[in-house]
Amino acid sequence: MSDALILLGPPGSGKGTQAVLLAERLGIPHISTGDILREQVAAGTELGRRVQAIMSAGQLVPDELVNAIVEERLGRPDCAGGCILDGYPRTIGQAEQLAGVLARRGLHPVIVNLAVDYNVIVARITARRQCPACGASYNLITNPPREDERCDRDGTPLVARQDDSEQVVRQRLEAYERQTLPLVEYYRRAGAVFHDVPGDEGSPEEIARRILKLLGKE
Ligand code: AMP
Repeated sequence: MSDALILLGPPGSGKGTQAVLLAERLGIPHISTGDILREQVAAGTELGRRVQAIMSAGQLVPDELVNAIVEERLGRPDCAGGCILDGYPRTIGQAEQLAGVLARRGLHPVIVNLAVDYNVIVARITARRQCPACGASYNLITNPPREDERCDRDGTPLVARQDDSEQVVRQRLEAYERQTLPLVEYYRRAGAVFHDVPGDEGSPEEIARRILKLLGKE
């Protein structure tokens, strides 16, 4: 049975960074509902138009929309050997739906819970930048580009995510506490394989190595 690695943790805890490193190392797809939703917004699809205002306000989009996205994505053949879920599930309703989908697909949930101090999070998130051309992620403090706010790969000027302003980050943290934090208890009670990992000790590579060790995949 292959593993579906579920990355839990508040916004800014490094889920996206770890998902990229682990996906590369394990050779399995990285599924980020935030990335998928942002693509829909950028493409101006009907779904994108529905979720745009919710995302800019730092709130969660309705369960049925993200559940449908993830169910479709997990049904593709590249997930048969496992996958990494980044930013999903975020509510108990999503976790319940996911449990059924994983069971049908023969995937075994493994939780990695990244813990980071809230003050560190706000500082981290407001320093985040992304390349609008290739999607590469940077952080002006912890992972700066070589040239002033330009992408190392293609030289494109970097941008901040619209929802990375301090005010929206506070909203996103509140949504996390109210709707997502209960998942920690939910998965512990369910007896799921659960690993707590400090998300602010060491470089992203060191944290990834620690996770791989916990997974027995060093
Ligand atoms: P992220 O990139 O994971 O921080 O997600 C950015 C935004 O997309 C969130 O603040 C939500 O508005 C929306 N979003 C992403 N994943 C989910 C999810 N699983 N459930 C509800 N909303 C989500």
